[in-house]
Amino acid sequence: MADQLISVDPTNGETIASYNSYDEATVSKALIQARKAFEIWKAMSLKERGTVLKNIAAELRRQKEKLAKLATKEMGKPIQSSREEVEKCAKTLEYYAKEGPKFLADEIVKTDAKKSYVSFQPLGVVLAVMPWNFPYWQVFRAMAPALTAGNTMVLKHASNVSGCALAMENVIKKAKAPKGLFQTLLLPSSKVEALINDPAIAAVTFTGSTVAGSKIAEAAGRNLKKQVLELGGSDAYVVLEDVDVDAAAELCKNGRLLNSGQSCVAAKRFVVVKHVLKEFEKLMTKKMEASPFGDPMDTKNKIGPLARVDLREKLHDQVTKSIELGAKLLCGGYIPEGTGAFYPPTVLTNVKKGMPAYDEELFGPVAAIIEAKNETDAIRIANDSIYGLGGCILSKNKARAEKLAATQMDAGNCFVNAIVHSDARLPFGGVKHSGYGRELGIFGIREFVNIKTVFVQ
Ligand code: NAP
Repeated sequence: MADQLISVDPTNGETIASYNSYDEATVSKALIQARKAFEIWKAMSLKERGTVLKNIAAELRRQKEKLAKLATKEMGKPIQSSREEVEKCAKTLEYYAKEGPKFLADEIVKTDAKKSYVSFQPLGVVLAVMPWNFPYWQVFRAMAPALTAGNTMVLKHASNVSGCALAMENVIKKAKAPKGLFQTLLLPSSKVEALINDPAIAAVTFTGSTVAGSKIAEAAGRNLKKQVLELGGSDAYVVLEDVDVDAAAELCKNGRLLNSGQSCVAAKRFVVVKHVLKEFEKLMTKKMEASPFGDPMDTKNKIGPLARVDLREKLHDQVTKSIELGAKLLCGGYIPEGTGAFYPPTVLTNVKKGMPAYDEELFGPVAAIIEAKNETDAIRIANDSIYGLGGCILSKNKARAEKLAATQMDAGNCFVNAIVHSDARLPFGGVKHSGYGRELGIFGIREFVNIKTVFVQ
């Protein structure tokens, strides 16, 4: 019997739909189609590809409300943030449609040849293995540059968002794209390795946990296939002694509650200099406690349920263990009564090395406050993590904060007085166990290309 991929509404625990996973023959047919589409797509000009990208953007906007409701239903994010996510995907497609020709133009290099230059050629079919937390954005931010460069794509999405995965395939079908340009493969994670082994797959892009990322890297490495890995994070927000503490706590609260706390670049650790610690704890707790959580279809709620009950169990376990090891609970930290995967905004302080709240990624609305003696100690603590995805420095002295962000923080995305976020124009990615390679901007489009030297004498 085929594996079942089941979508469950995390707001009430009800099953939305159950999908049969694809059998080998269906997968094989899809891969043949993706290769055929590649031959057609790569022969099209960048302008022609750009027109298809713009058609996809228009179709996304036409279907925005339907897509937004589906995402909120399948993984619980607040409805307004689902709408914004669809819009961000459309804008990113338009960005690459416009900038693609510039990013992929031949680059002349003067040598002793009559003519020598660098040409950017597509690789083939890119396999995308993606997580549920931004069910559209994660896919489109990898897809937009990969397709612009002339590749085609097959998607293995997270098993709890199969509806979103099929909806994206449908959007692309409606956008007058070559048949097979982008296809969804409904598969459990146990079938990913076989997919990576398949000669039809040229490269792999993965976004998800560090554990799964290392398995993907192993399989792709064994097959000598190019890979980009966007993995977990435990971003530190460093609060220096000269901040306006209320404004700092407001920004930190908003950074923590992003996507109900389930974002790779959500603020997770708050490294606060002793001088302002007590004040920060008080204000952060007040603001977190005042953040409404509940039905994600109701726009007054900025926080929905977590995406699955098992993810809530894991988070609660990390909170409980941290408390057992000496962390102090300032608010939240309990499993609410009733159905759904809800978890309240939670603040832990006195967090120290050796506790899950210090060492691990907390994927939900839990703030971990860590005391630092001074600026040097704060940077040491911020960098004392296996992760290196993002980070933020909060200070009234922008020059001082910028220097720390640019030269001292070990992370791929370092912000000053602003919440870490992705932007199509800027590269996005991590160091250490947060992965390698970059998405977005010019760096993202150059990941899945053959950077070819052409030498003419
Ligand atoms: P996950 O468990 O790693 O799942 C991500 C994807 O990988 C899903 O499609 C999943 O399929 C598949 N998968 C899981 N185990 C696999 C394995 N052993 N081999 C092959 N594929 C496997 O991650 P998640 O819990 O869905 O997402 C949360 C994590 O993603 C967090 O750590 C977060 O920080 C990270 N993330 C990182 C970024 C970034 O840009 N750096 C962005 C978003 C999220 P199934 O659903 O079928 O298991």
